[in-house]
Amino acid sequence: MIQISNHLPTGELQALDSAHHMHPFTHGADLAANGPRVITRARGVTLTDSEGRDYLDAMAGLWCVNIGYGRDELADAAARQMRELPYYNTFFQTTHVPAIALANTLAELAPGDLNHVFFAGSGSEANDTNIRMVRTYWAQKGKPDKKVIIGRRNGYHGSSVGSASLGGMRGMHAQGGLPIPDIHHIDQPDWWSEGGETSPGEFGLERARQLERAIAEIGEDRVAAFIAEPVQGAGGVIVPPETYWPEIQRICDAHDILLIADEVICGFGRTGNWFGSQTVGWRPHIMTVAKGLSSGYAPIGGSIVCDEVAEVLAHCEFNHGYTYSGHPVACAVALENLRILREEGIVDRVARETAPYLEKAWTALADHPLVGEARLKGMMGSIALTPDKTRRAAFAAPAGSAGLICREACFENGLVMRHVGDRMIISPPLVISQAEVDTLADRAAKALDIAHSRLRDEGLMSAG
Ligand SMILES: *Cc1c(COP(=O)(O)O)cnc(C)c1O
Repeated sequence: MIQISNHLPTGELQALDSAHHMHPFTHGADLAANGPRVITRARGVTLTDSEGRDYLDAMAGLWCVNIGYGRDELADAAARQMRELPYYNTFFQTTHVPAIALANTLAELAPGDLNHVFFAGSGSEANDTNIRMVRTYWAQKGKPDKKVIIGRRNGYHGSSVGSASLGGMRGMHAQGGLPIPDIHHIDQPDWWSEGGETSPGEFGLERARQLERAIAEIGEDRVAAFIAEPVQGAGGVIVPPETYWPEIQRICDAHDILLIADEVICGFGRTGNWFGSQTVGWRPHIMTVAKGLSSGYAPIGGSIVCDEVAEVLAHCEFNHGYTYSGHPVACAVALENLRILREEGIVDRVARETAPYLEKAWTALADHPLVGEARLKGMMGSIALTPDKTRRAAFAAPAGSAGLICREACFENGLVMRHVGDRMIISPPLVISQAEVDTLADRAAKALDIAHSRLRDEGLMSAG
């Protein structure tokens, strides 16, 4: 066995990586051409790579490291739990203290009567749980045909067969025979790209009413649930028009279907409240959580379920569960993360100080000639790149070309910002300071300048 450590030269690590490591969501040709970036350590909001270069991580990893990197308390909580009870399962009438404590804490934090938690190892797993849970719920109530779940195009709910079917990512559905049967998709509330000549308000209503039409077409007696992210994340941080969520709630109130809020990104303070559904004013029966639940320090997810659904489920054996449902180490880490979020008043600070400050810096980018709109909800934001902002035009070049150029310019300037097509997105750690927000905005502006001149040089500034 060779010793593979941080001390190997970058080139050697890259060669060992490409020999044996298969990467998620990565094109093999890009990887072969450029090699992977090797990240070696992180502190606060700053990543360091194997060349010793620092980056401000405006994505908090993958939307998850909400309390920032390098919190020893979480490492200590994990070590303590590993020594005491590294693993035991929660199947077959068994439990352990970390699962009890975390379920109770989540019930306390979650709004209304969302009082019961089914644990999973990730957001994808939790949404797979939700598919089976809502269908089992209706079957238990004597309606086994009420099993269609309505999701949204360009929504993201995970990458397993079930959760990717709930999501509406075209590229994912194109591989591996998705979606599974009895999943239906309506359009997303993305006014910038799809609103045409309608006003944002009208467009929001129109997109919400697609839900009502879908329920009518499919038949209420066949629709089990509607699932949505309060603010779409992976789809490009799409902040819907103000009219959208109240209309969705009105439609949901009028029909007997279950509502699943996918809070995997929005949960635990990202939008300035504990949950994104509180921010947009939506009352779900089930919330999917993961990511920020442990700030990414341990893999854990779950479904937080209302009294009524939990009660009905309790009348049968739900033939479902994961080896790592309620993993004690992951639960202990999540508990410590939630303690820090509460005791340090981080969610409050986001709402009162950090998000308003970020919003000012972020929306100022809309003045840049390459930027059409800059939107933000709490601590998740996006900007739309455009060759012509007066027309909300898309680029003539293939979607994502401009975004990729901008992302690379960000890396060169010490900033991790992701692109979704030709939208640039951020979701920084919630603990980012105002000085770090200034740095983020400076580097983003610089990267936009560089991207703009490259796009001009390469003749890519024409509209499609
Ligand atoms: C990331 C994500 C998921 C999937 O979570 P994993 O832990 O990657 O399985 C589900 N829903 C949303 C909204 C997400 O952003």
